[in-house]
Amino acid sequence: MSRRRGGSRRKKDPYVCPSCGTRVEEPEKTWTLISPLPDKYGRITMTIMASFKCPSCGKSWNAAIHKEKVGGEEKPGAAGEKREGEVIVIDPSELDDVEPLT
Ligand SMILES: [Zn+2]
Repeated sequence: MSRRRGGSRRKKDPYVCPSCGTRVEEPEKTWTLISPLPDKYGRITMTIMASFKCPSCGKSWNAAIHKEKVGGEEKPGAAGEKREGEVIVIDPSELDDVEPLT
């Protein structure tokens, strides 16, 4: 059941219920995922995840609502150590299935 996303590129609104199509105003909660591995520039990808619940049909789902690349100089070291450094907001066109917050 694992479908790889291939050539077709579709814009998906993470706020829209995958079951009935209702657009949810606010996520129930959000959290941050940090990729454990830096990319080739030494940057790590931060993904803001959100948990939604559809008020219409009750469906719950999680979706990424924002992605950023951070860092580039220091290694992603000990977890929990937050560096307020350079923040690179990546071009939305690089994103496959995530629509950034506007
Ligand atoms: Zn729904």
